[in-house]
Amino acid sequence: MFKNDYLARVYAQVEARNPNEPEFLQAVREVLESLQTLVEKHPEYEKNGVLERMVEPERFIQFRVSWVDDAGKVQVNRGYRVQFNSAIGPYKGGLRLHPSVNASVIKFLGFEQTFKNSLTGLPMGGGKGGSDFDPKGKSDAEIMRFCQSFMTELSKHIGQFTDVPAGDIGVGGREIGYMYGQYKRLRNEFTGVLTGKGLNWGGSLARTEATGYGLCYFTQEALQCMRSDSFEGKTVVISGSGNVAIYACQKATELGAKVVAMSDSTGYVYDPNGIDLDLMKDIKEVRRARIVEYANAKESATFTEGCKGIWTIPCDIALPCATQNELDGESAKALVANGCTVVCEGANMPSTPEAIEIFLANNVLYGPAKAANAGGVATSGLEMSQNSLRLSWTFEEVDERLKGIMKGIFHAAYDASVACDAPGNLMVGANVAGFIKVADSMIAQGIAY
Ligand code: GLU
Repeated sequence: MFKNDYLARVYAQVEARNPNEPEFLQAVREVLESLQTLVEKHPEYEKNGVLERMVEPERFIQFRVSWVDDAGKVQVNRGYRVQFNSAIGPYKGGLRLHPSVNASVIKFLGFEQTFKNSLTGLPMGGGKGGSDFDPKGKSDAEIMRFCQSFMTELSKHIGQFTDVPAGDIGVGGREIGYMYGQYKRLRNEFTGVLTGKGLNWGGSLARTEATGYGLCYFTQEALQCMRSDSFEGKTVVISGSGNVAIYACQKATELGAKVVAMSDSTGYVYDPNGIDLDLMKDIKEVRRARIVEYANAKESATFTEGCKGIWTIPCDIALPCATQNELDGESAKALVANGCTVVCEGANMPSTPEAIEIFLANNVLYGPAKAANAGGVATSGLEMSQNSLRLSWTFEEVDERLKGIMKGIFHAAYDASVACDAPGNLMVGANVAGFIKVADSMIAQGIAY
């Protein structure tokens, strides 16, 4: 709830202006609630109408994507790009292809991205895009035709110095390749207009691993500074089995933890011996098959249908890496009851507000997505730098920079939490630290009358 009139007014306006957009409202409410102390100490934010401006995207683009399926039938999907905030740099953020994509989802993601990108310390504004296209079950040729049609329209709105998309759920190296090819065909220019590119054509080493690795670097730093502890000997549960989950599993294992469970949209596997990542990668990345295949191939593993049950598995550390609102109050209670003391988010907004409340009330070390999963976009920023320099750094160089950025994000969030009288509350800290840079830049750049 809002103790501050200004924040209450701004939120009421957002609610009135964005009916039927629950995800967007959820993301906005969380940020505004975190800003109470800061806004009271700094009247310039109200005076300059910073919050009213920040909650309204600079630009929202919606478009038709028509494509022809393998049977020769015309299909139509809806495409989106939100250019949320460009105060600190060109719009930057991924593209999501999933049937759940709608205006609310794209806006919540673009809003979050603005603060996340700010936290990386790199000059990137916030954007996001995607489509309600469902890649599941589509042939490679269908994926290619969809990506080409999507880019035909998107190309009118993006550019290496204005808006640089990347991957998100449903968009990996293959899709970025098809989209990049189409952009080049239309523009006849070879630029860094997308990140997550292939290594032969301007991509960055360590970009694929970056979100999952970064999540573990952030968690490790938080554990060390707040608990004098580490991943060593810990039992970890990771939801999801996409790019973020797979590389979080790899790094957590490397850091001495045992990852005992992973999931997909059909259910989860529990393997008390620790997830065999080569097998998981073969099933998910090469064969693009369902996770039940893991249990079919491994005697030590069991498969359970449905996603929620994964949070009832006893663990020390939970890393939700699937999708928004996948971890609700009931799941949070189960985690806490079974001894989980650390939750760091690899997905965007995976915990519901009720879940977060339970974590904070039970002294769980809670690492919010916009801080914990910023390693992906941070490394996208490093890809942009390499493209501009016309050179490529080694894996070790990029990985070292990523580590430094993730440590920096933890400390920025922690320090801001202390300054806002909420020591150790990294949700408040991340929102405040991300906000200040964007807000001050907006004030510095003035308002057009
Ligand atoms: N989709 C990722 C995110 O949520 C990465 C975005 C990017 O690299 O631009 O941050």
